[in-house]
Amino acid sequence: MTARLGGGRTDSDLVTLDEAAADAVSRVHPVAGTLELPLGEADGHVLAQAVTAPRDLPPFANSAVDGYAIRFADLATGASTSLPILGRTMAGEAPAVLGQGAWRIFTGAPVPDGADTIVMQEDVVGGAGTVTLPAGINRGANLRLAGEDVACGQQVLPAGRRLRPQDLGLLAALGLAEVIVRRRPRVALFSTGDELTEPGRPLGPGAIYDANRAMLRAMLLRAGAEVVDLGILRDEAKDLERRLREAAADCDLVLTSGGVSVGEADHVKDAVLACGTLDLWRVAIKPGKPIAIGSVSGTPFIGLPGNPVAVFVGFAFVTRPLLARLAGEAYAPPQARPVRLGFAHARKPGRREFLRVSLEQDTDGIAIARRHPGEGAGSLASLAQSDGLVVLAEDVAQLAAGDTAPFLPYVELL
Ligand code: AMP
Ligand code: MG
Repeated sequence: MTARLGGGRTDSDLVTLDEAAADAVSRVHPVAGTLELPLGEADGHVLAQAVTAPRDLPPFANSAVDGYAIRFADLATGASTSLPILGRTMAGEAPAVLGQGAWRIFTGAPVPDGADTIVMQEDVVGGAGTVTLPAGINRGANLRLAGEDVACGQQVLPAGRRLRPQDLGLLAALGLAEVIVRRRPRVALFSTGDELTEPGRPLGPGAIYDANRAMLRAMLLRAGAEVVDLGILRDEAKDLERRLREAAADCDLVLTSGGVSVGEADHVKDAVLACGTLDLWRVAIKPGKPIAIGSVSGTPFIGLPGNPVAVFVGFAFVTRPLLARLAGEAYAPPQARPVRLGFAHARKPGRREFLRVSLEQDTDGIAIARRHPGEGAGSLASLAQSDGLVVLAEDVAQLAAGDTAPFLPYVELL
C-alpha cells in the first residue's frame, strides 16, 4: 500500500484517504503519563480514567419549583383541598419534617420528610396561614429525587473523554475538585523551505512568509497538543537531519510541512531516511500531494506537503486522528451533513476532493453551498474566507447545481 523509500524504493499506487488515516493511527500508542489538574485547568484535556460518581446527584430530594410540599395522600380525590401552612424551607436550609398540612418550599430546597409531592405556587390560592390546592395534582410532581440524575457509584464519564465545559460542570456538581488527565502529546513543529521568512521580518526577493507554521500551531493546540515550535528549516539535508534528530529526542511526534515532493529541493525525505524510516504516500485526495509518514529516531514523523490548503487537509484528515490516538482520546471523525450545491462541478473520478465553500440560506431555509473562487492548493484566502469543505467521494464524477452533497464545517474539523 505504501511506497517504502528505505531499502528498495518502490513506486506506489494511490492510497485512499481512509487507508492513509487508518495506517497513520495504527502506528502510534497513547502517551503514558498522567497528571492531576484542578477543574479550572482541565478543559480540553483527555480523561486518563473513567470517573465514577462518589455521591448521588442531586444529593438530596429537593423541589424543582417554588410552591408547597404536601403528602399526596392528604389530597381530596376529584376536588380541591385546603391545608394549613406549617412552615417553610429555603434553598440551603436543612430539611424539615412535614406534619398534617402543607409546607412552603422554594426551588432547590430540601423536601421535608414525609412530603412526596410539590404543588407550584402559580397553581394554588393562598390565604393567611392556609393554602388551597386544585384537583388533579399528580403524585411526585415537581420533586427531584436524590440520585435521579446520577446514582452514587455510576460511571459518569469514560476514559478518553476530551473534557468539555459541561463535563466539568458535572464533575463539580459531584464535588470533585481535581481530575486525572493524560499529559498532552508533545509535537515538534517545523516548516521547511529556503523561501520561507518569519512574519514580521522584511521579505527578500523570491521569499514568502511562513504561513503553515502559524496555521499548524493553532490546529495542534486545538487538537490538545503541546507545541514545540522549532521554526524554519532550510532545504539542506544534513542540517535537516540534525534538527529532526534533536526534535525527536523529547517529543511524541515530529510534524513538518514542505519538502516531501519529488523536486530537487525536497530534502525532508532523505533527512528522515538517514535517521529513521519513511513511507511516502500518494494519497488520493485533492487538494493534496504526497504525505510522508515514518519515524525519526523511533519517534513518529509526519511530513505534510508545502501548499497551505494541502497542509490543512492533511492535518485534518491524517494528523488529527493520529494525534487523538497519541492523546488517548476517544475520537470519532466528524460527520458530514448534507447541503445543497449552488454550483455545478465535473471532474475525473478517483480522488476524494474537498471544495472550499460558504453557506447561505436558500429561500426554503435549506443551506446552500457557494464555492470560493480561489481553488488552488496554495490559496489561503479560500480557507480563511469559507465556512468548510464540501466532500466529493472518490467515485463522484459530476455534480449539478441543486444536488445534495456532504459538508464538513471547519469548526468540527479543528
Ligand atoms: P514544497 O512541497 O516544499 O515544494 O512546497 C510547495 C509549495 O508550498 C511551494 O509553493 C512553497 O513555497 C509553499 N510552501 C511551503 N512551505 C510553506 C509555508 N510554510 N508557508 C507557505 N507556503 C509554503
Ligand atoms: Mg519546499
